[in-house]
Parts: sequence; structure tokens; C-alpha cells
Amino acid sequence: MSYVKDKLSFVSNIYKEKCPHCGEGHVFEKGLSVFKIPVMKERCSECDYRFEREPGYFIGAMYLSYGLAIFQGILGFLVCNALFPGLAIEWIVASVILPMLLLSKKNFKWSRILYIHIFPW
Ligand SMILES: [Zn+2]
Repeated sequence: MSYVKDKLSFVSNIYKEKCPHCGEGHVFEKGLSVFKIPVMKERCSECDYRFEREPGYFIGAMYLSYGLAIFQGILGFLVCNALFPGLAIEWIVASVILPMLLLSKKNFKWSRILYIHIFPW
């Protein structure tokens, strides 16, 4: 039962963008403009956990961001191809690139959140 609860809180903390250590503090600053790049806090406001463990720690998150973008592009293509078969190549390219562009800010957050939860040490 504890194992299931741990897994649920792991997924919940990722979804809510909470600290991997205490599960209470937010990892990103809230209330920023839609057009600004998300700002990550240096430390957890609740437990003082340092999010960037060492210099260059988040370089690994770029790989996750890349994987997420590729997944979203493929998903965009599959959905567009299923809904509108026989589209011109320009629209197919747009169906791949558009989800990647629209979700780029979210990918930045998701990749870092996933990374600090996968590698919390
Ligand atoms: Zn914390």
C-alpha cells in the first residue's frame, strides 16, 4: 500500500510542479506573464531543498525536453493525419511543428520537473 501511495504522490508532485523532497513547495515562480520563460526557484520555500543540485545539473533535462517535443510532433502528425487524410505537405509540416512550438514553454517546465524527480540526489 505504501508503495502505491509513494507512486501516486510521485506522479501528483510532478503534475502539480511540487518539490521532489517535501512535496509542498512549488518549483517554479507563479504569476508570470504568458510570454515569459518560466523561472525556477533556487530553493524550496518549505524545506530549503536546492533544486539545481550542481552546476549544469539541468543539461540532462534537455534530453527529456527533446523527447517530449518529438513525441508531441509525432502525436500532432498522427492526429492530423487521422482527421484529415491526404493533406498537402505544408499542412503536414505545420501539424508537426505547431504542437512543438505551442508546448515549448510547458516542455521546459515538464522536462525540469521530471528530471528533478527522476534524479533527486
Ligand atoms: Zn521542499
